[in-house]
Amino acid sequence: MRAERATGESAEPKPFRAAREGFFRVCGFGASTLFHTGRTLMSRRILITSALPYVSGAKHLGNLVGSLLPADVHARFHRQIGSDVLFVCATDEHGTPTEIAAARAGLDPRRFCDDAHARQAETYRRFGLSFDHFGRSSASSNHALTQHFYRRLDAAGLIAERDVRQVWAPADGRYLPDRYVLGTCPHCGDADARGDQCDACGTLLDPEELVAPRSAVSGDTGLILRESRHLFLRQSALVDRLNGWLDTRSGWPPFVASLARSWLTADLKDRCITRDLSWGVPVPRAGFEEKVFYVWFDAPIAYIAATQDWAAARGRDWRDWWWDGAVRDSRYVQFLGKDNVPFHTVSFPGTLLGSGEPWRTVDVIKGFHWLTHEGDKFSTSRKRGLSCDAALDALPADLWRWWLIANAPETADVSFQAARFAADVNKDLADVFGNLVQRVTRFAVSAFAGPVPAGGPPGALERALAADVTSRVATIRAQHEAREFRRAAAETRALWARANAYVQDAAPWSTVRRDRPRAALVTRVALGLIELCATVAWSIIPGLAASAITAVGGTATVAVPEWPADAEDVLIGDRSRDARRPIPFEPVVKVGAENLDAACR
Ligand SMILES: [Zn+2]
Repeated sequence: MRAERATGESAEPKPFRAAREGFFRVCGFGASTLFHTGRTLMSRRILITSALPYVSGAKHLGNLVGSLLPADVHARFHRQIGSDVLFVCATDEHGTPTEIAAARAGLDPRRFCDDAHARQAETYRRFGLSFDHFGRSSASSNHALTQHFYRRLDAAGLIAERDVRQVWAPADGRYLPDRYVLGTCPHCGDADARGDQCDACGTLLDPEELVAPRSAVSGDTGLILRESRHLFLRQSALVDRLNGWLDTRSGWPPFVASLARSWLTADLKDRCITRDLSWGVPVPRAGFEEKVFYVWFDAPIAYIAATQDWAAARGRDWRDWWWDGAVRDSRYVQFLGKDNVPFHTVSFPGTLLGSGEPWRTVDVIKGFHWLTHEGDKFSTSRKRGLSCDAALDALPADLWRWWLIANAPETADVSFQAARFAADVNKDLADVFGNLVQRVTRFAVSAFAGPVPAGGPPGALERALAADVTSRVATIRAQHEAREFRRAAAETRALWARANAYVQDAAPWSTVRRDRPRAALVTRVALGLIELCATVAWSIIPGLAASAITAVGGTATVAVPEWPADAEDVLIGDRSRDARRPIPFEPVVKVGAENLDAACR
């Protein structure tokens, strides 16, 4: 679709005038976004964002698999095929939970967020998340952009002032945001529904709808409704434009598209975008000096602000990713859990389209259902489920990465069960993949002591293998391109099994005495096969894959192993005669009861 062009020049801050000039520049040289990777590949730009993790509270595996991890796998895969990837994320720092957590820790919110952001960045680094930039929604860039969007929306007549009744908690001495009012859900009767949403039935709520409301901070039941003046984004005026915009999108998981449609009806309510808080983006409007923007208004804007900060640090132009000219030669994919769908299909695109400026909007939203913990929802606030840190203390990241991607909740909720996790990971990674690498490298080292000698023509077994592997690698690539993570993992697992079957059938250890050239050929094919098996799995298990590529004396660069362009060439072509000097491979860790006890504690 065509983003609407800006109308009028009123009060447009300088960076945006510059941005408009950039817009024309990009229009004139659309092909400049294509680049040469050193191969004969002309590649596309892809912008990947993961939903912003909230800064306070320990992150659990449910947070990871619902957005961060699949986004990382997709970013890694695209780097492998030579795309110009930008993978950004940030901590979502504003709002009451931070204010309250900071007060409890005796810190001001800024200082509290400095520490919490650093801790999360470290957790994600340990998990191998390969952000190009991991920013912060409290960054000055995001403050400026959020206020800019507000001014544009206000100029477009999409902001309305209204009095709202808000919950005042006398015992807490503060207004309580919706989620800090607890009570009984009027729809399903759950006793712990929050004032913004009932987790049990998924209904969005207003605090006034709760039966027997109480403060989540103090338990105060003497809550009072008070009038306070607030700003609303007139989403109701944007329904037709948002529906028209949605008509032009494709490739979304069906449940995400239908969730989006279910919001974009005549019943869509305007959204209050200000709050009575001090920690947040100030509202630049007379009479609103004591208020800040609602965290959900400023958080998605941080995708753009994080890009600006990334670009500023590298001398790149953020407009290449976010301004209209970028759209033609690039894709933008958002990864998020299903609870974030309304904000990414209504509020955020409403902000972008409503601004009247040519901002790029998302092409594909890859949404996820929940990962549950033995049947219950993972929850930071309720301390249920596995925290990322505990998981990493117990076992290497790749074991979690593999299981979570192989079981990603793409079409329905998935239950994490410790026993199933152990059985799956031990079978796939230790018994199939790890054992294959270990067996072949150990044999190669002991039989040939040095580079595996050339010689021996490929036979029928090898030609059949090469044809089969070529088609399997193409299938895995197509599944990654389509963001079908479970299928990609299942096909990767099937490729490993096929590789094991070849080694079993060709059995170089039984031919090495009577036919050394044949044993050498089989060993070279097997080493190349392992390199392929590891390379196509690298986006999911980067650490294990890199170790395997090193162990087989691989030719691939371990930093970002290029996606195999020609599997047949690696197995039985000229490249298969390249000298390989394998080294022993450490066995893959087997998950035992003690690891699971440590992780689930
Ligand atoms: Zn409910």
